[in-house]
Amino acid sequence: MSGRRAELAGRLTAVRQRMERAADRAGRDPAELTLVVVTKTYPAADVALLADLGVLDVGEARVDEAADKVGELAHAASRLTWHEIGQVQTKKAGKVARWADVVHSVDRARLVEALRRAAEAESRTLQAFVQVSIDGEPGRGGAQMAEVPALADQIAASSRLELLGVMAVAPRRLDPNRAFAALQQASEQLRAAHPDAKYISAGMSGDLEQAIAHGATHLRVGTAVLGSRPPLK
Ligand SMILES: *Cc1c(COP(=O)(O)O)cnc(C)c1O
Repeated sequence: MSGRRAELAGRLTAVRQRMERAADRAGRDPAELTLVVVTKTYPAADVALLADLGVLDVGEARVDEAADKVGELAHAASRLTWHEIGQVQTKKAGKVARWADVVHSVDRARLVEALRRAAEAESRTLQAFVQVSIDGEPGRGGAQMAEVPALADQIAASSRLELLGVMAVAPRRLDPNRAFAALQQASEQLRAAHPDAKYISAGMSGDLEQAIAHGATHLRVGTAVLGSRPPLK
């Protein structure tokens, strides 16, 4: 086994164990949880190793970087489910629709419409989470809580888009338990109108336990599997 492969295998096992223990503590079935391994800034070779180690879901933030990796992996990429987890500029919607299966960061009406059109043009269906801003600050993206119902309705009414649920990034200065409790509440409200949109994308390397305690179904984990990223420029 190559050094990198062994390193990834060890960290992957540790993350899966953390998820199982957190599910146990929350009285939840670990089979309800989807681990999305976030490979942003890491090369396609790492994605290939992860796929070989049984990873089925891969997350990327930058649209162009992801498109390059999918191109490089060619056949191997088609066996994976690709998640766009970062902010998406409206003008990049067309590119996203070419490689992503799931978009976690849908936070405005213009982006919903751009993704719908792009998916239509590519004859693809995109699954979508409404990204919610927990503290209302615009920096990390995310819709205001009050905007969520209208966005959800718009996605649900769009051919080629499928509403999965809500997503959030916990604000750094907030107790993650409070942030994820607020997200869980938003999920409950969403399900009153859209019963099938029962998924919650929440939890990263540092707070996946708290997210699982508050109903997360999709964990977006980068550094705990791949190692720390060089700071973004
Ligand atoms: C980078 C990123 C993650 C992964 O974060 P880690 O702390 O490396 O696990 C999760 N979600 C989003 C939106 C990200 O941009």
